[in-house]
Amino acid sequence: MGANTADVLIIGGGYAGLALAYQLARRGNDVLLLEANGLGSGTSGCSAGRAQVAESHRGSHMNVVLAGLARLEALEEELDFGFEWRRLGNLMLIERDEHWHWWRDQVAYLQAHQAQAEMLDAAALAEAEPQLDTRRFRGAAWCLEGHLNPLKFCQAWAGSARRLGARLLAGSPVTGIEVVGGRVLAVQTPAERYSAGTVLATAGAWTGELLRLAGASLPVRFTHAEAFVSEPLPPLLHNHIGLADFYDTIHNQARAVSVGVAQQQSGALLVTEAVEKTPSIHRANSIWGIPGIARDLLDLLPGLAAVRAVRAWAAPSPFLPDEQPAIGWMPGFTNLFVATCFHLTITTIPVLSEWMAGMILGGPRPELLADFDPARFQTAALPGWAGRKGK
Ligand SMILES: Cc1cc2nc3c(=O)[nH]c(=O)nc-3n(C[C@H](O)[C@H](O)[C@H](O)COP(=O)(O)OP(=O)(O)OC[C@H]3O[C@@H](n4cnc5c(N)ncnc54)[C@H](O)[C@@H]3O)c2cc1C
Repeated sequence: MGANTADVLIIGGGYAGLALAYQLARRGNDVLLLEANGLGSGTSGCSAGRAQVAESHRGSHMNVVLAGLARLEALEEELDFGFEWRRLGNLMLIERDEHWHWWRDQVAYLQAHQAQAEMLDAAALAEAEPQLDTRRFRGAAWCLEGHLNPLKFCQAWAGSARRLGARLLAGSPVTGIEVVGGRVLAVQTPAERYSAGTVLATAGAWTGELLRLAGASLPVRFTHAEAFVSEPLPPLLHNHIGLADFYDTIHNQARAVSVGVAQQQSGALLVTEAVEKTPSIHRANSIWGIPGIARDLLDLLPGLAAVRAVRAWAAPSPFLPDEQPAIGWMPGFTNLFVATCFHLTITTIPVLSEWMAGMILGGPRPELLADFDPARFQTAALPGWAGRKGK
């Protein structure tokens, strides 16, 4: 292939685009990836690094989650790059009875699917996390999950894809898409024009605006999420800790804070999340967001009052009105594939990227992906912000 042509052209270098670059290069394809900024600089590099299990949807989604978790166990070796993978418990702290009942059912469901999970009463919670001020909590739902370094996870996919011959071009925003007769002929960046047999739109929260360049539409929405990281600390926490009412708190609110925290291998605390509805994507921290998260963190861990925050950031968190991903061929196009708005992305992307690669190369659509067909949005009436229930 020439410098400006490829078998597959991928637009967007987050978890989705990078994992697909690896999977497609591994299957012998000439892959070219265009990323507007740096690889992983979108939402992926800003995540909390949780390989989530606790919030699995009930039904077939659970099989993808468990398969993804198993896949992650061997992925550092496969990609030949350490991304600080470790199994880590997640504690959902519970105050109210309604959340206790919901999580008790969820834990029973997780246990029935061989996930390690249990309900902890207040005494067991205090024993599990001695530094935590547990007085206001009835207990917690605990689940064994996984944890990794989000930026290194991006680097791992990218490095392996490159070794297999994929060309990953940072600083290459797609600004135009040429379509003739339902076929994407070429894409334009400020400097170059590129063409490929198949084009993948993996631009996360930006996928809606990207598709508009091709005259297509997908109702990608997003919230604006803020987080920060502390200076390194001695060992303090044994689990990722979050609040059971996270989704209730952020649902239908213009601005909300719901604290989540885990200690990284470096000793730093990665602390999430202040959430705001914004009409357009931006990357700025607000004057209420970081102080709000810090205040709630101190309520949980009063001993941290003297700890310094060393870096804060913000990123869009994308979702579709029905809270399901869009994975599949764009209706009306013969060679445009979309993959965005995943649920439990870190856990599921190792498996979903394999399945997507099979589909992109002409294989049948796996049954589990049928619900994610982007065609479902072509006629439906779409709810706006009020439809948001989760990340
Ligand atoms: C604070 C926070 C914490 C989170 N924590 C977790 C967690 O613990 N576990 C988990 O699984 N998920 C978590 N998530 C969600 C997770 O980060 C996202 O689901 C995931 O990163 C989405 O990956 P992506 O590849 O679809 O999108 P992105 O990572 O956003 O990648 C899309 C890329 O496309 C690029 N792009 C956009 N437009 C163009 C263009 N025109 N041309 C070229 N490139 C373009 C962007 O620059 C970007 O790099 C969290 C999200 C947030 C905000």
